[in-house]
Amino acid sequence: MAQQIPRFISRRFRQQASLFCRFSAPVPRPFAPPPKVPALRRTYASTGESGPNPNPGQNPFKIWPFVAIFAAGTGAYVLMVNQRIDMAPTDKKQIPAPKKGTPTFSPDKVTVLFVLGGPGAGKGTQCANLVRDYNFTHLSAGDLLRAEQDREGSEFGDLIKDYIKEGRIVPMEVTVQLLENAITDVVRAAPSGKGKFLIDGFPRKMDQAIKFEETVCPSKFVLFYDCPEEEMQKRLLNRGKTSGRSDDNAESIQKRFKTFVETSMPVVDYFASQGRVVKVVATKSPAEVYKETKEGLEKRLGKIF
Ligand code: UDP
Ligand code: MG
Repeated sequence: MAQQIPRFISRRFRQQASLFCRFSAPVPRPFAPPPKVPALRRTYASTGESGPNPNPGQNPFKIWPFVAIFAAGTGAYVLMVNQRIDMAPTDKKQIPAPKKGTPTFSPDKVTVLFVLGGPGAGKGTQCANLVRDYNFTHLSAGDLLRAEQDREGSEFGDLIKDYIKEGRIVPMEVTVQLLENAITDVVRAAPSGKGKFLIDGFPRKMDQAIKFEETVCPSKFVLFYDCPEEEMQKRLLNRGKTSGRSDDNAESIQKRFKTFVETSMPVVDYFASQGRVVKVVATKSPAEVYKETKEGLEKRLGKIF
């Protein structure tokens, strides 16, 4: 079977066409006139076959290899586009980008500190100390989500359950709304209309950080607990014995670490680039970590704030 592909077609395409030709039956062309010229020679046969055209009744210049090349190229392109779509985070497909807006609360009246750190870094423990000594209200994003998950009639219950088990970040609209509701309740109940909040485990993703500061309240800074994974894993597995949490098991922990490194650390880096991070080494004893926490906090806000 003789095939001829013009030289201007790239080598790769010619190889593809060659492959295609080898696995395809020749297409009969009953109306082609009998050839008068000597048959063309193969220029790329891998079988070593050469010499005169063995099918003199057929026009050696065929159109279908070009059609095959075009189809293969189109197929590859469609495949590539589809892969890109699959790689996009699913929440991006459904949820619009955050809109600009005025924050509901002024930072003059409402003090917000974000508390970040890997899972098991000790955020909850240190927040409890800060609540005791500085009269903060502690809002754990994870606790609010778990409460919403368990609330009868919640339309987000199943969604939250899946995200938490997989160690993924729940779409920001849900979490930001839960936080805003909780802050509103406290500020409304305070005669001064003021409040001090530790927002624990939030923002874990850039979109949350931007949305919250634009629409709810700008934070003073991020308290970041830095702890190596081996230490955090040890603590989490230990906590898992009694916590009853669906994500305190080895498999979920690994997923949470991955989300933390890939999605949450960029948030810490973003605030650090603005000089808005107080970093505390979280490997020592809880008392020592707290001492460092207090020092870092008072350096920024003073003893009374
Ligand atoms: N979570 C979330 N958005 C947040 C905070 C938490 O989606 O802003 C989810 C996420 O799946 C996370 C889980 O809640 O893995 C548990 O968060 P929590 O803060 O309770 O975990 P911790 O860091 O304290 O171990
Ligand atoms: Mg926690």
